[in-house]
Amino acid sequence: MIQKALVWFRRDLRLKDNEALSACLEDGIQPVPIWLGTEDGSRVGSALKVGLHYSLTDLKRQLEAFGLTLILRQGDCLLNILSLLEECQARKIYWNRRYAPEEIKHDTLIMHALKSKGYEVKSCASQLLIEPMYLKNQSAQPYRVFTPFFKALSEKNIPKPKPNPLTGRVFKSLKLPSLPLSEFKLLPSIPWYRDFFTITDFSRADALHKLQILKEHKILDYGTHRDIPSIDGTSLLSWALRLGVIGAKEVWHSLVFEPQNLVFLKQLAWREFSAHLLFHFPESLHEPLNPRFKIWPYNHDNLLLKAWQRGKTGVPIVDAGMKQLWQTGYMHNRVRMICASYLTKNLNLHWAVGERWFYDTLIDADEANNIMGWQWVSGCGADAAPYFRIFNPVLQSAKFDPEGAYILKWLPELKGLRGKFLHQPWLQDNIKYHKPLVCLEDSRKQALKIYKNLQENVWHLPSQNLS
Ligand SMILES: Cc1cc2nc3c(=O)[nH]c(=O)nc-3n(C[C@H](O)[C@H](O)[C@H](O)COP(=O)(O)OP(=O)(O)OC[C@H]3O[C@@H](n4cnc5c(N)ncnc54)[C@H](O)[C@@H]3O)c2cc1C
Repeated sequence: MIQKALVWFRRDLRLKDNEALSACLEDGIQPVPIWLGTEDGSRVGSALKVGLHYSLTDLKRQLEAFGLTLILRQGDCLLNILSLLEECQARKIYWNRRYAPEEIKHDTLIMHALKSKGYEVKSCASQLLIEPMYLKNQSAQPYRVFTPFFKALSEKNIPKPKPNPLTGRVFKSLKLPSLPLSEFKLLPSIPWYRDFFTITDFSRADALHKLQILKEHKILDYGTHRDIPSIDGTSLLSWALRLGVIGAKEVWHSLVFEPQNLVFLKQLAWREFSAHLLFHFPESLHEPLNPRFKIWPYNHDNLLLKAWQRGKTGVPIVDAGMKQLWQTGYMHNRVRMICASYLTKNLNLHWAVGERWFYDTLIDADEANNIMGWQWVSGCGADAAPYFRIFNPVLQSAKFDPEGAYILKWLPELKGLRGKFLHQPWLQDNIKYHKPLVCLEDSRKQALKIYKNLQENVWHLPSQNLS
């Protein structure tokens, strides 16, 4: 009888560049692919669930081409694994390691429990370019500044992605009970997510197509186009990297390390930097990486938060971004920065409430990228912009969306406006648009005042040793 082992898919919904799947076949074992629902230590927002549904459907189809069935079970992961091991008379499970704090906790418990019962667990590295424990500075400390991190990363030998190990094989599928995907209720009953498909259909084919377009076209102007929200100038691969439909090593190695590709590779390295930071500083899930910001006197105003969430702040670039997010599950990076800055610095709301909203509504919601993005913008994260450099959303809007092409796409009601009025409709008489929630100049001054007061009077906490 052919030996079998479970291969547990989580953040790696792909066959190529999947170390756990490759390891199983390299050991001469027939894989039994499984997926065990979302109660596996991961944080899954509403928009991400939609992506998960379609990416799992696609993975299931890909596996079937090799005679394999993706077995779906729900409930306690350990109990399900134990039952599945028994059902297919296997002694071993393979999975790829995950790095967010709750995921690590979850996987460690399961690993110990299985080992204590005499089962074998083989965990592999497939999510990142390099695992966080293997990239430290000269004092053996994690990097907290991006530039030296990127230099060290570029000097590392990033392993090449493994090919699809199933190629050329057809297995005799096991007849094990499996739930239908609909049982997991990943899709909401009202299809509010229809516009997500303007970004992607969440398939592997779409991810590969996007990578191809990047390599052949977008990469040439990526350095300049990536900042213009009205241009489709970025890869749009974040959902695929989050769900593991495409591997980071696959993307990294598909572009040669040369000057024209460097700006893009640096973005990929920010993903890596964020994952490493969260791994080394798990407390940053809830607390600012810079402890000086722990006592910041934030507002707790639900009405302000609601207006921001619904794109009714009165500042067009912010409102346009929040509408794009709500409708498509995606927001351009430049606009993410503007919206996050507006929430934390002009509305003086806590970065964590914004983080939560983004996490629930983004199709690429990634704990490390999102938390580090929010902390970076609000000034309390690693390598963050100095606090006193407060984005002016009107200047940002005029600089990166001068003709208002992005604003008008998401706020067609502003069609009649031209020039500076598009960026500041409150300057025009008789305009029917949301009144600004706050005065940008006053709120900026107020933020700077709080910052100065805290610095002078209250902040006795030790400053960080940045390296
Ligand atoms: C407040 C805030 C919240 C964010 N939340 C998320 C999130 O939940 N999930 C997420 O994937 N990205 C997040 N980002 C980072 C960035 O906005 C998105 O990765 C990017 O817009 C995705 O579009 P793209 O794939 O076309 O990016 P590209 O420009 O094509 O970049 C390629 C890849 O590099 C990575 N990347 C790019 N920029 C960053 C960055 N600043 N930090 C970390 N990784 C980066 C992504 O994986 C991205 O797919 C956030 C940024 C901010 C400012």
